[in-house]
Amino acid sequence: MGKAAVGAAVVCAAAACAVAVLVVRHRMRSTGRWARAAAVVKELEEKCGTPIGKLRQVADAMTVEMHAGLASEGGSKLKMLISYVDNLPTGDERGLFYALDLGGTNFRVLRVQLGGKEGRVAKQEYEEVSIPPHLMVGSSEELFDFIAAALAKFVASEGEDFHLPDGRQRELGFTFSFPVKQTSIASGTLIKWTKGFCINDTVGEDVVAELTKALERQGLDMRVTALVNDTIGTLAGGRYDDKDVVAAVILGTGTNAAYVERANAIPKWHGLLPKSGEMVINMEWGNFRSSHLPMTEYDQALDFESLNPGEQIYEKMISGMYLGEIVRRVLLRIAKEASLFGDDVPQKLEVPFILRTPDMSAMHHDTSSDLKVVGSKLKEVLGITNTSLKMRKLVIEICDIVAKRAANLAAAGIYGILKKLGRDTVASDSVDKQRAVIAMDGGLYEHYTIFSKCVETTLKDMLGEEASASVVIKLANDGSGIGASLLAASHSQYLELEES
Ligand code: ADP
Ligand code: MG
Repeated sequence: MGKAAVGAAVVCAAAACAVAVLVVRHRMRSTGRWARAAAVVKELEEKCGTPIGKLRQVADAMTVEMHAGLASEGGSKLKMLISYVDNLPTGDERGLFYALDLGGTNFRVLRVQLGGKEGRVAKQEYEEVSIPPHLMVGSSEELFDFIAAALAKFVASEGEDFHLPDGRQRELGFTFSFPVKQTSIASGTLIKWTKGFCINDTVGEDVVAELTKALERQGLDMRVTALVNDTIGTLAGGRYDDKDVVAAVILGTGTNAAYVERANAIPKWHGLLPKSGEMVINMEWGNFRSSHLPMTEYDQALDFESLNPGEQIYEKMISGMYLGEIVRRVLLRIAKEASLFGDDVPQKLEVPFILRTPDMSAMHHDTSSDLKVVGSKLKEVLGITNTSLKMRKLVIEICDIVAKRAANLAAAGIYGILKKLGRDTVASDSVDKQRAVIAMDGGLYEHYTIFSKCVETTLKDMLGEEASASVVIKLANDGSGIGASLLAASHSQYLELEES
């Protein structure tokens, strides 16, 4: 070999070595990144663990808090508000009734023509109206005028198949899904606005009186005969469809539950027994908290930085408003500590609430072989580009941990209610097994299939085979509007007239 050839060979070998070193370094760095990322996920999984024993502790805590909240005002994180609904729909309701739904994603007006046991809901129509943002932070008069005007317009458009008997006032069920201190079935004072509404002059006022004044200003002769929230409305609508409904749960943007309590079990009620011996209790369960809840650093930071720190802890772990945000926080930590998505943290990943739960759900349900939905959501929503299949799988794992913890905790809450009602076991002497139906509503439960399947299986596991055979979760899709109009009917001013 000549000198030149030797030189060339040496250069080549050196170059090859250098490349090899770079590759190894890159691999080592990448291995280090992966190890750190995997450690974060492993820790998340451990901290979010909800084995059945833990879920039983959560359910027991829920039952205990239910008792405490019923026993005295302020006795628990659970408000256990008396709804004054002691007269759930029976199916006999007849006539034309209205409902107005404020406090969900949209504001809705609805009319139904009820035809008693045979006719049922003969006809119904609704309209959805979005509320201009400036009215959400303006004066109460403006907001209620807007609502009343929408209602007046809706009434004006009524067809012939809706019929109001001569000389009768129209009657309305008002679904007002904000914290209210109820003073009767058709009155209540607002405790505070939530969900982006901020109208100070209404706090402490009777919301029914406010609405009534606005209806008068519109020249609309209509009376509010029932004031409820979406959970109570769902319970009423559910009961109308199925007499075995004992509770209602909302799993949407937020979460809440209501159930039917034996009226003599309510010390707060001071012996003032309602007609039917039953009373619907609005648990406001989103505010539940317990040392048994598997809280992580992500939950703590989310709560701390929220508009209502220390409040709605259970809601912050299980409802649609927050699940995507928890996932974002985990991904952000991985980006920062493991540099898994490049040396710089993608800017969008730093933006709170940028990852919405429907996007998380879309990723979680991705069944394509290359997880292309995950890839495109990461890119479009979070600005994380060029993700490998391995990374996409890791993201799904995180979604799975967060969604299943939420579903398991929701199931534990439902189990707690069933326990309070004595429906968690089958009485040994019972001949026919009484069903217990949970009316469920909310976009999270409706659309996030992995989540809702998990709620169902976990509840079954907790109940055991025998008891679970008589427990049913029934999706009551938007039952709260119909429910409110049914409650307007079952609390109608003309009821006694009809009975006599
Ligand atoms: P609201 O709770 O405001 O009355 P919904 O019951 O319709 O309204 O619930 C809407 C919520 O449901 C959204 O805020 C979101 O968190 C959740 N959601 C809607 N669609 C999906 C989806 N495809 N996957 C997961 N969650 C969803
Ligand atoms: Mg709703």
